[in-house]
Amino acid sequence: MARKKIIAGNWKMNMTPSQAVELVNTLKPLVANDEVDVVFCVPAIDIIPAMEAAKGSNINIGAENMYFEEKGAFTGEISPEMLVDAGVKYVIIGHSERREYFAETDETVNKKVLKAFEHDLTPIICCGETLTQREQGVTIDFIRQQIKIAFLNVTAEQAAKAVIAYEPIWAIGTGKVATTEQAQEVCKAIRECIAEIYDDATAEAIRIQYGGSVSASSAPELFAQADIDGGLVGGASLKPDFGAIVNYNK
Ligand code: PEP
Repeated sequence: MARKKIIAGNWKMNMTPSQAVELVNTLKPLVANDEVDVVFCVPAIDIIPAMEAAKGSNINIGAENMYFEEKGAFTGEISPEMLVDAGVKYVIIGHSERREYFAETDETVNKKVLKAFEHDLTPIICCGETLTQREQGVTIDFIRQQIKIAFLNVTAEQAAKAVIAYEPIWAIGTGKVATTEQAQEVCKAIRECIAEIYDDATAEAIRIQYGGSVSASSAPELFAQADIDGGLVGGASLKPDFGAIVNYNK
């Protein structure tokens, strides 16, 4: 069965609650495309107002992060139960900015992935190499390591429902998009890694996004690749351009 594309916006630390409502209202008619799953991953404080504003549309509101404990003395963190209660279905885990600025590791990513599945949340699991790693020819080895640790103790049934976002760090927010060949090569390697860990059926089912300066002009070619099942979009998800990205197939 063909995999349904999933195109997610990552708002990062942008948009106050009232701006979030305005942006959802602006984008609502522009992202109407039932052939793809559309997700807006928004700051925690925007989740409830954005959810209200998105009611009746095809927009799913997701989170940008969550903690791996159930509840308790973890000041400032958001629990999976809080997300579920707010109606969230998708959560970004291990974005490179979380790894770089907030000391997230492959091990904490794995804990969060396991916890997300415990609560029936779909994790959008981020991986990606630095420019040095790419230049040294260790990209695939590095990504395979990130994937293997992220999926430790995750069952095949859970893995089949996961989303992986391949985001070369050098392409995030820089305007430098990986070439279609580079993006497809790594997404294919990720699928092969999933097949090795699990089986071919799981690898065929899992959705793999490309992320890194995706724009309305680069999206159609990227999303046409055999192993690229959509995108994780930062900057362009805050603009009407996101409508053109979501409607890349029209
Ligand atoms: C991201 O934040 O995941 C991202 C890919 O950002 P941008 O599209 O701005 O490069």
